[in-house]
Amino acid sequence: MTKQQAEKKTVKFETEVSKLLDIVANSLYTEKEIFLRELISNASDACEKLRYVSQSDSSIEKTKQFEIRIHINEKNKTITIKDNGIGMDESDMKSNLGTIAKSGTEDFIKKMGDKKGDVNQIGKFGVGFYSSFMVSDQVVVRSKKYDCQDGFLWTSDGKGTFSIENTNYNTNGTEITLSIKKEENEFLTKHRIEEIIKKYSDFVPFPIFVSLEEDKKEKKDEKEIESQVNSAEAIWLKDKTKIKEEDYKNFYNQISNFYDDPLKTIHFKAEGVVNYTALLYLPKSQPQDLYHPDRKNKLKLYVNKVFISDKLESLIPAWLRFIPGVVDTEDLSLNISREILQNNAVINKISNAITKRILKEISDLKKKNPEEFISFWKNFGPVIKEGLYEFNDFHDQIFEFTLFHCSEKKEMISLDDYILNFSNEKKKIYYISGENKENLINSPQMELFKNKKINVLLITDPVDEFWMPMKMNFKEYEFTSITKGEIDIEEKSDKSQDKEEPKENLDFVTYLKDLLKDKVKDVKVSKRLTTSASCLVADENDMDMHLKKLMAANNQTISDEKRILEVNINHSLVSKVMSLEKSQKDKFGEILYDHAKLMEGENLDDPKRYTNLIAELVSL
Ligand code: ADP
Repeated sequence: MTKQQAEKKTVKFETEVSKLLDIVANSLYTEKEIFLRELISNASDACEKLRYVSQSDSSIEKTKQFEIRIHINEKNKTITIKDNGIGMDESDMKSNLGTIAKSGTEDFIKKMGDKKGDVNQIGKFGVGFYSSFMVSDQVVVRSKKYDCQDGFLWTSDGKGTFSIENTNYNTNGTEITLSIKKEENEFLTKHRIEEIIKKYSDFVPFPIFVSLEEDKKEKKDEKEIESQVNSAEAIWLKDKTKIKEEDYKNFYNQISNFYDDPLKTIHFKAEGVVNYTALLYLPKSQPQDLYHPDRKNKLKLYVNKVFISDKLESLIPAWLRFIPGVVDTEDLSLNISREILQNNAVINKISNAITKRILKEISDLKKKNPEEFISFWKNFGPVIKEGLYEFNDFHDQIFEFTLFHCSEKKEMISLDDYILNFSNEKKKIYYISGENKENLINSPQMELFKNKKINVLLITDPVDEFWMPMKMNFKEYEFTSITKGEIDIEEKSDKSQDKEEPKENLDFVTYLKDLLKDKVKDVKVSKRLTTSASCLVADENDMDMHLKKLMAANNQTISDEKRILEVNINHSLVSKVMSLEKSQKDKFGEILYDHAKLMEGENLDDPKRYTNLIAELVSL
C-alpha cells in the first residue's frame, strides 16, 4: 500500500451509534467491568484474524507469538490494551468504530470467501467496543494494519463525534488507551484488572500480560513487572484426545472450588440445530450451599470462548444446580443482554439437550458402576428429585435411576424393581414417610405389610412427599401412602376380607369416637395393626401426617384436620378397655389415643396422667 496522508478529520457518529452509545453506557450493561472483557475479546479476535491470514500470506511469520498487553498508569489515569493482531487502517476505523451496520468481522468473513478454516473462531459482530465509554471520558485507538504502512489515530469522547488522523504508530496491531473517569478509579489497580481477566477471559487463547507504570519506573525485574494472568486455553474446545485426565481435573478444580477428582467428566460437541460444546462434571462431593435458597447453578456460558454469564438460570434446571462446567456456543451474539438470555430459544434448546445428556450419563453410571452411583445418589438424589416436583419432560429419565429404601430388601430399589419383583394385585406402590427408616420399619402402620411381606417404600426425603401425591402414578401403579385412608391389601383369594365386623366392635368404636370427639376425626377397627393396640392415620383426602409435620416445622400454614384413630380389636389393651363398665371406659378410653400418639413419636399433653392410668388399669 502507498503511504497516505490523512488530515485530522472529525466525523459525526452515525445516528444509530450515538443512540447506541447512550444505551450501552446507561442500560445494556449493568456491570461496568465487562468493558475489559469486550476489549480483550476484540484484541483476541484481531489476533485470530491475523493468525488465519498468516496461513495463506507468506509475508507474515506463521510462528508469530500473539499476545495482549495491558498497561495501567495510575498517575495519568489510563489503561492501555495492546494487541499485535491484524490492526486497522483508516477506512477500517471509520466503518468499524463509527458505524454499527458494517462490521469488520463480517467484512473479514466475506473476504475469506468460501475458505473453511478458523472462520467460526472469529468473534460475532456487535457493539462491544463502545462499552469502553462506560468507564472512560476519552478513548484513543492507535492502530496499524498488517498490510499497510501507515498508522492511524482514532479519538473520541463518545459524545457525538470521533476524529481520525495519521500517526507515527508503526507497530502492527492496535493499542487502545482509555482515560478512566474519576468515579471509576477502581479499575486503575493491577489487582482489580487481574481479577477481571481471571473472571472473564481466563481461557482467551492468547497470553494476557498486565503491567503497572509504577513498577516499570522502579525497574523491578521483568517477571515482577509483567506477568501472564490468564491460562490462555479453552480446554473445552481442545481435541478430546489431547486432553489429559489431569487437565480435566485442574479445570474442574478451578471452576467448582472442589479440590478432589470429579466423579465423571462429560465432554461433547453438538452440531446441528444448535451448535455448542459442553464440558460438564458430576461431582463427588456435595457443595455446602446445595440447599441454600440463594444457590444458583454452577454452569458458565461462553460465546466463542468469551465468558458471558455464570448466573443464567435458564441454562440448566435448578435441580441440576450441583453440576459445574462450561457451555460454549457460536449461536449467540456476544452482546446479548442477560434479560434477553433468560428467554432465549438457543439457550432453551441447549438447556434441554444438556439436561438429557446429564441424565443419560447418570443412568449409565448406575448401570456400569452401581457403587459409585449409590454414593452419588446419596449426595444428589434429593436435589434431582426436585425435578419430579415440577412439570418437565424428564420424569421418565429421572425414574430410571431413582432409588428408594424399602421394607423387604436391604439394598435400595428403583420403581421398576418394585413393580417387577414386588408387584401386587392392587397395582399399588406402597410407601410410608418419616424421619428415618428404622423408625418407619417399626411403625404400627407397617405391621400387616411386614406380616404379609408386602414391600413398602420407606420415604425419608421430604421432597418425595411432595411429588408422589402430585404424580399419583408410576406406569399403571398408584403411589399409596400406608398412613392415609383405608388400607385394602387383601388379595381376592383371601376370604377373610368379606368377614363382617361384629356389632360389639362397631359399637365400641362408635363409643370411642364420641368420647374422643375433640381429638380425633373418627375411630375405626384397624385392618393394618397386628401387634400394636392403636395407631393414627390421615383421612383419605387429608394431608399425610408426616407431610403435615414437615410443613408445620417450616412454619407453613396448614389446615388443622384431625386424624383417624384405628384400634386393634384383638389387642389385650383394647379388649380390656372394651370390657370395662361405662364409667370406667370413660376414664380409660383416652389411653388408646395417647398410646397411638406415642407410637407416632409425639409428646403427650399430660404424660403423668397417662402412666397413672396404665398402672391403674393393670391392677383392675
Ligand atoms: P465486534 O467486535 O463484536 O464486531 P465491536 O464494537 O467490539 O464489535 O468492534 C467493532 C469492530 O472494530 C470489530 O469487529 C473489529 O473489526 C474492530 N476492532 C475492534 N477492536 C479491534 C482490535 N483490537 N484490532 C482490530 N480490529 C478491532
